[in-house]
Amino acid sequence: MITISQLGKSFSGQRILRGIDLQVEASQVVVIIGPSGSGKSTLLRCCNGLEVAEEGSISICNQHLLIDGKIIADHALNDLRTQVGMVFQSFNLFPHLSVLENVTVGPRKIRGMSKDQAETLAHDLLAKVGLAAKADAMPATLSGGQKQRVAIARALAMQPQVMLFDEPTSALDPELVGEVLQVMKTLANEGMTMIVVTHEMGFAREVADRVVVMDQGCIVEAGPPGQIFVNPTQERTRSFLQAVL
Ligand code: ATP
Ligand code: MG
Repeated sequence: MITISQLGKSFSGQRILRGIDLQVEASQVVVIIGPSGSGKSTLLRCCNGLEVAEEGSISICNQHLLIDGKIIADHALNDLRTQVGMVFQSFNLFPHLSVLENVTVGPRKIRGMSKDQAETLAHDLLAKVGLAAKADAMPATLSGGQKQRVAIARALAMQPQVMLFDEPTSALDPELVGEVLQVMKTLANEGMTMIVVTHEMGFAREVADRVVVMDQGCIVEAGPPGQIFVNPTQERTRSFLQAVL
């Protein structure tokens, strides 16, 4: 589903990603962990063309996104982006649009869906994230957990093949984290292909097929959660886990 090979990226002469190889199969959930500044967000952003890496290749759903450090043409990139949903730490909802409009705007403007069709889809998705009753609410009246669940519904409304999550619960009060993780768990169980950057080790243990540990722009090690959390082979993994667990 996603194939990343020998990905490398620098910012102002500094190597931020080096020699990243990562393969994610359909319906797999990959959780990326690692210290601050290790390149986790940059890697995710490269997977939907928000950042352009100058080395390596990425393909998603059998379509090339990056070939030997060259990004595909704009129209193809826009097309591919509709297949890759992304959810950020900050929810980035459109503040002047209702919850329903936040979810329908993408399908209407980008997918060319009719208003009725988009609203039917949006109501289904809002029900799925437990917010059927909030369709007419404005974002400012929602809690952080509710906003993030709207953001997930909005990303799903584009009917993506893959979902990328960058610390989706890091900005939330602790009591609101569970409701967002629950929605993500449901998505995973339904077979969505997901890459999730998170510090929620319980989620990683329970939901991840594979945990990838990053440090200083490299993948240090990767494996099933049982292996990474119980028997990590790398000292850098051990010291990171000691710091967060
Ligand atoms: P965190 O856990 O804090 O979110 P991260 O693992 O997501 O960290 P990145 O945000 O990918 O790390 O950043 C990796 C490195 O790249 C950092 O040193 C950061 O300062 C640098 N970096 C990221 N984006 C840019 C940018 N647009 N310009 C310059 N440097 C950048
Ligand atoms: Mg980050």
